[in-house]
Amino acid sequence: MDTIEKLAILTDAAKFDVACTSSGVDRDAQLGRLGTTTCAGICHSFAADGRCITLLKVLQTNVCVYDCSYCVNRRSNDIPRAAFQPRELAELTMGFYRRNYIEGLFVSSGVIGSPDRSMELMLETVRILRDELGFNGYIHAKAIPGASPELITCMGLLVDRMSVNVELPSQRSLDLLAPDKSPYSVLEPMGLIAQGIQCNQQERALSRRLRERFAPAGQSTQLIVGASPEDDYQILSLSAALYRRFELKRVFYSAYLPVNDDPLLPDKGCLAPLDREHRLYQADWLTRFYGFEVEELISPQDPWLDTLLDPKAGWALAHLDQFPVEINRAPYEMLLRVPGLGVTGAKRICQARRQRTLRPESLRKLGLSLKRMQYFITCDGSYKAPLPFDGEFIRKQLQKEGSKANKAARGGGKRPLDGQLSLIDSGDEGRQRAFAAQEARLQRLEAARPRLEAARSQLEAARRSEAS
Ligand code: SF4
Repeated sequence: MDTIEKLAILTDAAKFDVACTSSGVDRDAQLGRLGTTTCAGICHSFAADGRCITLLKVLQTNVCVYDCSYCVNRRSNDIPRAAFQPRELAELTMGFYRRNYIEGLFVSSGVIGSPDRSMELMLETVRILRDELGFNGYIHAKAIPGASPELITCMGLLVDRMSVNVELPSQRSLDLLAPDKSPYSVLEPMGLIAQGIQCNQQERALSRRLRERFAPAGQSTQLIVGASPEDDYQILSLSAALYRRFELKRVFYSAYLPVNDDPLLPDKGCLAPLDREHRLYQADWLTRFYGFEVEELISPQDPWLDTLLDPKAGWALAHLDQFPVEINRAPYEMLLRVPGLGVTGAKRICQARRQRTLRPESLRKLGLSLKRMQYFITCDGSYKAPLPFDGEFIRKQLQKEGSKANKAARGGGKRPLDGQLSLIDSGDEGRQRAFAAQEARLQRLEAARPRLEAARSQLEAARRSEAS
């Protein structure tokens, strides 16, 4: 099997893993090494369908001895299997990076033989990349549940981010749907990674010259939503506990895509619960950056997030007695709770109101939209939203706004995107467009090369004359 065939199989097999596009780590260029990473994000080339390709997201192998019901790579599925040799994958990554196709690597693996064997193969790939090929770009590696602590520690010292997928939100579901895994085999590596990160931070605080870093971009995990019966309250409570206990950078929620016929799983024909996934991300964000507790957004008595209304608006409507808030006087923490107002907007308001009394026009001048927040604020005593100030009425208005915004975000409903997309488009037309776009980009770069060379020579000449 040639490399392109392997790549097609193993990138397709990796598409169900969610990986972040913000690297979370800064690393400058280093002599003798290739690449950098920037904390803000890793965005690069665009595929034919408009996707931004940031990471080469690939499995070392899709051979797996485990039989997780929800997974396309499970051993009982009759699918094409492939495996990269560590050097092959390392050189492929380096080649893509040099050509500007990617900004980093996300590598995971099926369990080939044993968790240790799979981990060793990935570790060798990453070692070749870092030590032999001098790759200095971003690497995110998965830790395989059940792998030895030593291998996890070695991996942590080479990569930027590590993650262990929890996948299912309860022990019962894990026992039922992933019988080869146990909560312990998932949580143990998470604990090791958290410990590695903490120790490394303490050592670096003591000695600034310590260059070695352990997973500087932290760790993350993924939860599958909709494959098992857990409600949103259970999922968000678990996430909150994981953030607290393992200092996770991110919990990714992945709407379950039915890929297998299995009596334990939802029907193959049912749609991925993307609205639910979206609301979970919003609620997660509110607990991390807006000062909300999980219990304020959702409760065991009412354990599902409203899919028609975002969780912040849901909270505001349930606490309408605390609104409208006067924008010129409300504390920052309360501003954060106003639907339609984000962290940046709340900061801008706090800063601007020190200088002057804010009126509705002032908010627009600050770049803030009143569409949603108008129902929850007064500006210098005046309430500008349509009346009545009533929960049911406001809910309808917000839902109307929400559906308009969704339609616009989906391009007027012309291009529905469902499911996960493949790196290598199966349609010939799409593939050709992607290659043509890359080709055009390379040609532009080639065309710009003489100008760059000329500028470089001029700069060098100027430097030489200054030195002499
Ligand atoms: S361990 Fe389970 S989830 Fe991971 S590749 Fe194997 S079958 Fe899929």
